[in-house]
Amino acid sequence: MSLIVQKFGGTSVADTKKLFIVTERILEEYNKNSKIVVVVSAQGKLTDTLIKEELEITKTPVSREHDVLVSTGEQITVAKLSMLLQDLGYNAISYLGWQIPIITNNCFGNADILNIQTANIEKKLAEGKIVIVAGFQGINEKGEITTLGRGGSDTTAVALAVFLHADKLYIYTDVDGVYSEDPNINKNAKKYDEISYDKMLEMANNGAKVLHNKCVQYAKENNIPIIVKSTFEPGNGTLVH
Ligand code: ADP
Ligand code: ASP
Ligand code: MG
Repeated sequence: MSLIVQKFGGTSVADTKKLFIVTERILEEYNKNSKIVVVVSAQGKLTDTLIKEELEITKTPVSREHDVLVSTGEQITVAKLSMLLQDLGYNAISYLGWQIPIITNNCFGNADILNIQTANIEKKLAEGKIVIVAGFQGINEKGEITTLGRGGSDTTAVALAVFLHADKLYIYTDVDGVYSEDPNINKNAKKYDEISYDKMLEMANNGAKVLHNKCVQYAKENNIPIIVKSTFEPGNGTLVH
């Protein structure tokens, strides 16, 4: 039985209608008799809204409290997606970073994942449950919530694929793969069927937010291929390897 990690970004989970489409992508894989771990981001621009509201309160937030605040968006998505799947008759369970736990260093706002204790997830997968994990967040050794940097749910997905020895990692987004340039800015950008880690890393470091730069580095170090594809359109996407 293969183990698949699927990650859906903020653009893919932006509203309830899109969450329904996400359940279709999940069930396509689940119904192939695979074990499924799903990573999700906050809905739409919710993280931006939280940061805007934070700035109305203070220009100098304590970094610990900043992470407590900005990590909340993902909690909403895991709960909603888990409920949707349950309502469709499937066994799903949501997890926040601290419940797994996903252990990070102390660098609030830009933490690195040090370890993931996989026993909880493995037990639920063995029971046939679809496991829904909040991206972007972890917990440090003092038990404080940390976040991984903007766009960091991609990194959660890669780290879960590494620690769970996943057979496949899909990062679903609102474009059908990685392009030579942002396809929403340059309509003539060329889509890659495949791309090397180094080229992808260079693009991510230059601001191509389709993948978080840390996630590409992490995938390279652990030799985890990433398939970037659209949540909404058919197609093979781009293989980053
Ligand atoms: P998600 O919500 O799925 O995490 P992001 O907004 O973080 O999605 O990343 C997807 C966006 O990345 C696309 O909508 C696209 O505008 C942008 N993008 C920037 N550079 C590229 C590129 N080279 N290839 C594909 N998408 C790119
Ligand atoms: N919600 C977080 C952000 O907006 C993480 C992510 O989307 O990957 O940066
Ligand atoms: Mg993103």
